[in-house]
Amino acid sequence: MQKLVVVGNGMAGVACVEQILRHSPKFQITIFGDETHVNYNRILLSSVLAGEKSVDDIVLNGLDWYEKNGIDLRLGVRIVDVDPVAKTVTGDDGSVTVFDKLLLATGSNPLIPSIEEVKKDGVFVFRNLDDTRALLERARPGLKAVVIGGGLLGLEAARGLQVQGCDVTVVHLMETLMERQLDPTGGSYLASKMNQMGITVLLGLSTTKVLGNGHVQGVEFKGGGNIPADLVVIAAGIRPNVTLGEKAGLEIKRGIVVNDHMETSHPDIFAVGECVQHKGICYGLVAPLFEQGKVLAATITGNKGAKYEGSVLASKLKIMGVDVFSAGEINDKLDGSEVIRYEDPSLGIYKKLTLKNNKLSGVILVGETNDGHNYMEWLRSQTDLSAMRRQLLFPDSSPDGGLDAAQMSDSETVCGCMGVSKGTIIQATHETGVNTLAQLKECTRASTGCGSCTNLCQQLLKAVAPEFEEEVKTTICKCIPFAEDKLREILKSQRLRSVQEVLEIYGNGIGCEVCKPALSYMLDMLWCGDHDEDRSARFINDRVHANIQKDGTFSVVPRIRGGVTSPDELRRIADVAEKYQVRMVKITGSQRIDLLGVKKSDLPKVWADLGMPSGQAYTKGVRGIELERRFENLFTPHKLKMGAVGCPRNCAEATVKDIGLVGQDGSWQVVVGGAAGKKVRKADLLVTVESTEQALDAAALFFQHYRESANYLERTYDFVERVGIEKVRKETVYATDAVKEGLRERLRKSKAHSRDAWLERDEPRHPTQFVQIRSLEEVLA
Ligand SMILES: Cc1cc2nc3c(=O)[nH]c(=O)nc-3n(C[C@H](O)[C@H](O)[C@H](O)COP(=O)(O)OP(=O)(O)OC[C@H]3O[C@@H](n4cnc5c(N)ncnc54)[C@H](O)[C@@H]3O)c2cc1C
Repeated sequence: MQKLVVVGNGMAGVACVEQILRHSPKFQITIFGDETHVNYNRILLSSVLAGEKSVDDIVLNGLDWYEKNGIDLRLGVRIVDVDPVAKTVTGDDGSVTVFDKLLLATGSNPLIPSIEEVKKDGVFVFRNLDDTRALLERARPGLKAVVIGGGLLGLEAARGLQVQGCDVTVVHLMETLMERQLDPTGGSYLASKMNQMGITVLLGLSTTKVLGNGHVQGVEFKGGGNIPADLVVIAAGIRPNVTLGEKAGLEIKRGIVVNDHMETSHPDIFAVGECVQHKGICYGLVAPLFEQGKVLAATITGNKGAKYEGSVLASKLKIMGVDVFSAGEINDKLDGSEVIRYEDPSLGIYKKLTLKNNKLSGVILVGETNDGHNYMEWLRSQTDLSAMRRQLLFPDSSPDGGLDAAQMSDSETVCGCMGVSKGTIIQATHETGVNTLAQLKECTRASTGCGSCTNLCQQLLKAVAPEFEEEVKTTICKCIPFAEDKLREILKSQRLRSVQEVLEIYGNGIGCEVCKPALSYMLDMLWCGDHDEDRSARFINDRVHANIQKDGTFSVVPRIRGGVTSPDELRRIADVAEKYQVRMVKITGSQRIDLLGVKKSDLPKVWADLGMPSGQAYTKGVRGIELERRFENLFTPHKLKMGAVGCPRNCAEATVKDIGLVGQDGSWQVVVGGAAGKKVRKADLLVTVESTEQALDAAALFFQHYRESANYLERTYDFVERVGIEKVRKETVYATDAVKEGLRERLRKSKAHSRDAWLERDEPRHPTQFVQIRSLEEVLA
């Protein structure tokens, strides 16, 4: 069997080997990689730095893949020499390996501009997993980070460092950010978005020196100005890594020169990826590498025929909330070019299409990139757009750009990053029984790059995979285009702490009465109350501590824990009812007194005269003496009713409460997910325990789990039904000690941050109003 040696275990080399394996494998394959990691998705390093993905998430081929395909993987070995006559490669471990065919896939090296004293401690590049880990290790909240380079990579690095808490400045040599992909107007829209996110952008500045004694302390610019820095990242471009090509005596210009069959100047040496130059172009994006890999695989396996003719380039910035897409020619001054543009500065949207002979030659989108896929297809196919000129800037306003998978031809590209066509996806469903998105990713790599084609892949699966079940995830509202679980992920990974910040960066900057309270709740939950609370984002009821009625008046429910009150409290309630001419006084189903018909303007005085805290009948709060003490003032996804009973007649109806404690024969049954309102549901048994303390603890575990895991406005009975009581038990009372302690700790933290809503208002108060409030610690003590 012929020996194929691949140098470079990166994206292009391994993608090409995958293609080679599709042809009848007639090679004994050895792959050398000087990194110590299996093949991973380099483009997602930005997401690892930004905390959105873990290292495991970005692995493309694990060790089992190499093993399954009989590939000899030599990790951590750098090839330092090639003998094109003896046909051997030499590793830095001293090994000499013979090849029949050699594939060079050595990628690029970061370009380091000539900057004085650049080799200081604290200066980094951003190319591989080790660089990313080093950055993550060094980045700390409050550190001043300077990123040199305002291209795609520099901006992604900047956002990642900002998410890690650094105070970030991007210094760019040119006057326009991403000047290779954007025109000056597009660049200025992007710069203002970056500024809005809190990243300082300095343009037209040439960095000449790294300052500091041993460790970086700042950077100096041409002309003498400087700024302080604790950490510097150089992201000033890349240079094809041609060292081995040179050693092999291949024809080299900027990259290793290859022809349309991906052959170099040596008949048995091939090259693919960023290290090559084809028709004068060295590519720095993944899509061309996959196209090259397919052609090379055909050539090297003796199936020469297909040609690589060059690629149409498209770039997408992978910073959540900053939408930038650019493809094709950005120079609109070329002969015969026509420009169509749209700008909305207040929405931060800029679109520019360049046409030539009614065909698209370039596109720039900032602030709204939904139609990127459509434009890309028009660019690739060179569709005549004469008939569509009126709609060109707004082809379709739906989230996926109105793409109709059924209308696409089999050769159309679905996943631009990984170069996967519709035909390949259909083939995968037919031949390998792909039915889920995860299987599709595994089988074809579609949707594993930047992720922007995920909707389209799902659409296709729905159409062609009979058993495909779409996971329907709806957004909260139109202001913010993410489903709730994605939103939680964003808030956490991006460390956002205020509703306004979330809306500014990821939404329409304004918000509405639907998303603001939901975001407010999520932030409160996520940061255990230690967030920037914006009372105006809460529901009116939560703001005024009363329950708005259809006629615009309010219902006021003073707190009477477990229905136990005093003559003094009753007297005060009666006095208030008379003084403010309350329309109706009602005893509620949960042993409270409800004063109905209070005017909004009277509310502060009503509460002051009552001298009792709010019973929170209006909120998503809780009830029941000891339970109430523990959980009062904490927000929950929806209203939560609780009851504890010790008698067989179940007077407090604990078995139809969200959380119920039922005492029987010396033990407690803790039941959850019950309802006796619009929906009637008998609660499920969570656990049976012996002591009251154990029962309260089980209730607390469920309470916190529900707060953390249910959707906003999802009642416990829907939540328990959706996930199943078995799973709820596993995540709470039957969870590991560490998980349980985590739930308790976060509940404690939230409780410590919680305050009676009324205390936050600068209103008159009765001296006894808050004396009943006790902390969880106090209660637990
Ligand atoms: C942070 C980041 C974000 C990016 N984002 C995008 C994006 O959004 N979209 C996009 O299209 N592209 C993006 N890219 C670019 C994309 O990752 C590259 O185009 C692609 O990885 C190039 O593949 P390659 O195999 O040619 O090179 P690489 O993936 O770099 O692989 C080359 C491998 O060869 C190894 N090697 C080199 N010399 C030797 C030797 N002598 N011996 C042994 N091993 C050797 C290298 O260590 C490396 O592991 C991004 C790149 C980075 C760094």
